[in-house]
Amino acid sequence: MPIRVLDATVAAQIAAGEVIERPASVVRELVENALDAGARRIVVEARGGGLREIRVQDDGCGIPADEVELAFARHATSKLSTADDLWSITTLGFRGEALPSIAAVAQVICITRVANADVGVELRIAGGEVQAIMPRGCSPGTTISVRNLFYNTPVRREFLRSDATESAAIAAVVTQYALAYPEVRFSLSIDGRTTLQTSGNGDLRAATIEIYGLDVARQLLAVDAAAGEGIDHVHVSGLVSPPGLTRSSRAAVHLFVNRRAIQPRGQIALVLEEAYHTLLMKGRHPMAILNISVHPAAVDVNVHPTKSEVKFRNTIQVMSVLGRAVRAALLESGVRPWEEPGIPASLDTAQRRFELRRLGTSHESAWDTPSWMTAGDERGSASFHVRNWRNEGQSGAWQREPAAASSLSPTVQTSKLPPLRIVGQIAQSYIVAESPDGMYLIDQHAAHERITYERLMAQRGAGMIESQELLIPQVVDLPPTAQDVLLAAADRLAEWGFVIEPFGRSLRVRAIPAVLYPGDLATALLEIADHLSERSGTTPRDWREAMLITLSCHTSVRAGQTLSFDEMRGLVRQLEQCASPRTCPHGRPTMILLTITQIERQFGRAK
Ligand code: ADP
Ligand code: MG
Repeated sequence: MPIRVLDATVAAQIAAGEVIERPASVVRELVENALDAGARRIVVEARGGGLREIRVQDDGCGIPADEVELAFARHATSKLSTADDLWSITTLGFRGEALPSIAAVAQVICITRVANADVGVELRIAGGEVQAIMPRGCSPGTTISVRNLFYNTPVRREFLRSDATESAAIAAVVTQYALAYPEVRFSLSIDGRTTLQTSGNGDLRAATIEIYGLDVARQLLAVDAAAGEGIDHVHVSGLVSPPGLTRSSRAAVHLFVNRRAIQPRGQIALVLEEAYHTLLMKGRHPMAILNISVHPAAVDVNVHPTKSEVKFRNTIQVMSVLGRAVRAALLESGVRPWEEPGIPASLDTAQRRFELRRLGTSHESAWDTPSWMTAGDERGSASFHVRNWRNEGQSGAWQREPAAASSLSPTVQTSKLPPLRIVGQIAQSYIVAESPDGMYLIDQHAAHERITYERLMAQRGAGMIESQELLIPQVVDLPPTAQDVLLAAADRLAEWGFVIEPFGRSLRVRAIPAVLYPGDLATALLEIADHLSERSGTTPRDWREAMLITLSCHTSVRAGQTLSFDEMRGLVRQLEQCASPRTCPHGRPTMILLTITQIERQFGRAK
């Protein structure tokens, strides 16, 4: 074949393949653009695994009408002008490749408005060809809708996996950014169902609660260490799991460099895991949400088209701060792997110390937001929120978030609870909340039972109950008959996250379901043994129900426990997402309402 110059469309499709490998790449690029545009709220919607439609809506700065066409031209960027700028990149994008690449392989509608323009603009572009551009009324910000991805590159389409897999990859991308930017309010809906929503209150632990649940989030240890000056300055901050809380993959290792997500592989991942020294069992990985903040000139982000790998100017320095930061967090929690490698502190000790620290006078500092998370004008402290609520006028008083939610079309939320504003906690057992109809008292333990019950049901449905290994396997003494029954059912128990084995005349437990409070282990096992030995028909369904109730009953949020504001908010938000939020799995109420009329009657103001 003679040499020929490729026509522009084919060339664009080839180039697009480098940036846009799958639907999740589109989400990543659009979310990065929204963040670069200073958005405080980002709504992501995906349909049909992201192939049918991906829609990303933000309340950022918008694109001026006369530049919108240019934004879709190759190498057009507002973020970089000279080659030198490559060494001081503070934005997530800079290559000017995303929009043209997406437009080369999909049908794109971009609706955008800058705040000071009277009217916005709508651009339609497909297969790289502009099809229409017209004025359009819209709220400030940008909405980009990407339809029929890869419609003109069928081969690429064939390489994709199932819709469910692609949707999961999309969720993983949004999760990453929700964790890297806790001050931005994210929501993700997949095929019309809201699957992720963060408050955007700026607190990393609060965002973690939304993603991993309260049980896991509250166990994570705060990491915060810095070293060096000027261009050598390195700051590592975030959260890591205690050694007992592990995963079988690195799916829960979220690493960021200057808040840009990077792959949890190579040296960074090794340094992180080495900090746990001998405390990680073979094949197990910690959970981590860590940002490494360095001088923009001390990192090269331009080594890969998807920007998911970086090169540091001073790798040794970065790795040493990272290792030290994580070790310090573990040390503070009571684990001393490098001093006594043979005798790791038991999970119970670590948890007890963690609890003491949380409840004690150092309460505030233990839950401090890492400094990189508080950048910007919104801070995550409880007082900020209380203040904000008070400042709201009558009309806005019942909006859940003070953010610019009103300018965006509301996401469909089928919560069966009214909007609740947390007031505080009483008797270390009940959450006091206000709603338009009056005052709610929420039983924190019953509420958590309900949440755990539904969470477990979903995990069980997906065949993946989260299991937590015990640092020191726990020997439990139960009546011999109970032990026999349990050991005989070891396989069935393994499906629920229990790893048990005989140990002399006792029973040894190596792992338990992550939701289970380790202190209740013996009681829970005894209950399970009772279910198992029940003569009267244990159908698989009865057994499942019994397990769900037993496990959700012995969870870590208990009566008599002080909860922080974020924990209360997290709990209530998770409760809202439950199918039956008003009762616990035993059928008792999770909350009681005292209406305004009832209160007024008590005060003799009304009859
Ligand atoms: P890059 O992000 O590398 O600059 P893109 O192709 O992703 O390149 O975007 C091109 C340009 O379009 C950006 O530089 C920015 O000026 C503008 N842009 C894209 N998305 C948005 C958005 N959501 N809000 C405001 N401007 C945007
Ligand atoms: Mg970009």
